[in-house]
Amino acid sequence: MASINKNYLRLQGSYLFSRIGEKVRNYQAANPDKEVIRLGIGDVTRPIAPAIISALHAAVDEMGAEETFRGYAPDLGYDFLRTAISENDFKARGCDISPDEIFVSDGAKGDCSNIQEIFGEDNRIAVCDPVYPVYVDSNVMAGRTGEYDDITEGFNDVIYMPCTKENDFTPDFPSEVPDLIYLCFPNNPTGAVIKKDRLQQWVDYARKNGSIILYDAAYESFITEEGIPHSIYECEGAKECAIEFRSFSKTAGFTGLRLGFTVIPKDLEAGGEKLWPLWARRHGTKYNGAPYIIQRAGEACYKPEGRAQIKEQIAYYLENARYIYNGLKEAGFEVYGGVNAPYIWLRTPNNMTSWEFFDYLLEKVNVVGTPGSGFGPHGEHYFRLTAFGSRENTIAAVDRIRKL
Ligand code: PLP
Repeated sequence: MASINKNYLRLQGSYLFSRIGEKVRNYQAANPDKEVIRLGIGDVTRPIAPAIISALHAAVDEMGAEETFRGYAPDLGYDFLRTAISENDFKARGCDISPDEIFVSDGAKGDCSNIQEIFGEDNRIAVCDPVYPVYVDSNVMAGRTGEYDDITEGFNDVIYMPCTKENDFTPDFPSEVPDLIYLCFPNNPTGAVIKKDRLQQWVDYARKNGSIILYDAAYESFITEEGIPHSIYECEGAKECAIEFRSFSKTAGFTGLRLGFTVIPKDLEAGGEKLWPLWARRHGTKYNGAPYIIQRAGEACYKPEGRAQIKEQIAYYLENARYIYNGLKEAGFEVYGGVNAPYIWLRTPNNMTSWEFFDYLLEKVNVVGTPGSGFGPHGEHYFRLTAFGSRENTIAAVDRIRKL
């Protein structure tokens, strides 16, 4: 008789967005005349930039002609895209990452959840708390996390690293040394960034202990300030201890098109074995490549016109973030993030729990955000708003909250 992977029964996560959805649906059913503004889920709203649309059209036409038709893409991605990534995202920033260290994929979510497959079952993982839930859930599915503890609201084989205002929402070294360390900067959900010297300390720590850092830089393009690393490979020695994930989702509005990549340096090793061939084998076995037309669209992001248009889009979202940040601060809220990231992380007023504040905002001003406690116990008493809405909705939402 077939049986299931029982680890799936231990997953806690999807509860967050389904509970939000249910609450909003119930509210709207009871109050059909109210216009609810959603600044909860982290999806983009601006259309794809014209230069990228042109590249898509041209690639679609190529697929319709015998001489230019393409079938399966190369397993690890087309050279034109891997070269553009290597030159623009890495070499231009002084990072020695070659095209063949880049694995093109259909997004960072798949990569940062699948990467754990190439590591042993007994690896101990460390994650920030609060955290993007995918890192924990993918390890739960693989049975690497131990039992769930209702009291600490965490898995007993996972090392949770609290990120609080006291440590600027960047984790301190844990008391036990982890094997795999997930770091995400600019951070979802807190909007925090990590300074270069602090990230260098993490790299030094990982090298000293033989740990691997899994660095999620999906929001890299939102960095506006100097001194904030765009890639972990800006740190000395990172090629010996780090894998980096990137995404075109928030950079260029590809949440629906799907494109991302992972960097695994050729010489990166764990337990004396090189990781590059393992990930190449996994990619080649379980994945048949991001579509040609989407990879051409990705390439267009690195050409002058595409680059300028994408920059404008990011500036649009960052202006939303600035509006939310300043508006809430002036209204007396304690606010974080929003400067180098599309997320604003605010402390709930009057010590309300995250869910109490969610209900309060929904009912009083019809604004939806994400309760911080849904990202981990240290997210309790915080709340996440995103800058991905339209300008009109963003302004309206902030004005409503200010009137409270
Ligand atoms: N990593 C982080 C931290 C995210 O917040 C997200 C999306 O919200 C992703 C990865 C997923 O990116 P992609 O759309 O490329 O799968």
